[in-house]
Amino acid sequence: MFEDKIGPYSFEVGMYRPPSEGGSHSLLLRFTRNCPWNKCTFCGMYKHEKFSLRSVEEIKGDIASIAGLWREMQDIARTLGHESVVNRDVIYRIIETYPKSSTSDGFGMILNWLSSGAKTAFLQDANSLVMATDNLVEVLHYLRDTFPSIERVTSYARSKTLFRKTQEDLNRIRKAGLDRLHVGLESGDSEVLKRIKKGVTPEEHIEGGRKAMKAGFQLSEYWMPGLGGTERWENHARHTARALNSINPHYIRTRPFSPWPGTPIYDECARGELTLLSPEEQLEELKLMVQELEVTSKLCFDHANNYWTDTDGQLLFSHSYEGYQMPEKKEKVLEIIEKGIIANKGRSEYGYAEIVL
Ligand code: SF4
Repeated sequence: MFEDKIGPYSFEVGMYRPPSEGGSHSLLLRFTRNCPWNKCTFCGMYKHEKFSLRSVEEIKGDIASIAGLWREMQDIARTLGHESVVNRDVIYRIIETYPKSSTSDGFGMILNWLSSGAKTAFLQDANSLVMATDNLVEVLHYLRDTFPSIERVTSYARSKTLFRKTQEDLNRIRKAGLDRLHVGLESGDSEVLKRIKKGVTPEEHIEGGRKAMKAGFQLSEYWMPGLGGTERWENHARHTARALNSINPHYIRTRPFSPWPGTPIYDECARGELTLLSPEEQLEELKLMVQELEVTSKLCFDHANNYWTDTDGQLLFSHSYEGYQMPEKKEKVLEIIEKGIIANKGRSEYGYAEIVL
């Protein structure tokens, strides 16, 4: 838990957010702590942390604290003759008044959010939709009323939770002001999902994704090239494409698998139970998945693990958060993959994954 205290203002900030939320300098608001599932074998994010819900009062308290800090900065700005613009003079004055703010990550996050127009917010941690619908709706209304400048609110969500929520609950949450969901699909292959203990079947992934789309969320589905190893790469690629075709989310985000030390899957790799794909094999798997895609989604490579390079050593794919529009850019993506396969032929190193070997 990371509690920030700046004078009378206190609020919690969690550790993680998707890359695209960093790019938009989102306000990070902690609605729950850690992950309520915490069993995926490839994931080390919350392994040593215990999940807990936060009460409506606690979350509203954080939002009110951040609003209070912003108001004080605007008051200082007016006193200094800068109308209500939060500039360097205002920041210095806050640091003079509350010296701890100079070392506060939360203060830096708030300043970045303000300087980019205070337009987006991300709800932490791993699955805000696990909150009771009434509570989530209440804090979303409070957030929207407190910060009318916010244009987009985003959260992580588990497929299983989307599957379990009623359509009406999802419609209410969407209407209350949650716009975008990031979901870890990882794979559409039932064997891979079982092995990684994702706790969800391909059918539940599809049903949960479809319900989110029907409710009007902008949906990002993440998948992991390489997660099936050499043993299941073909099924992993084909069945993932099949699941994504059935959902047709707004975004498909590619986050290649790399085993983190300390996770169960890392030990499986070390014991030889899962054989990592080489860069060339990963690209062959990606090629098959893209060939099988029939979607109107944007295909994105906006995670650092998309490390493949071309013959000049340049990154193969754009890391843009908006990615490549399907199906218009499908041929272009396949051409890029072909170039990558040639550039990576025979390479034996495993990018981020080589730490295992
Ligand atoms: S649901 Fe997400 S955060 Fe939780 S263990 Fe799985 S991958 Fe990690």
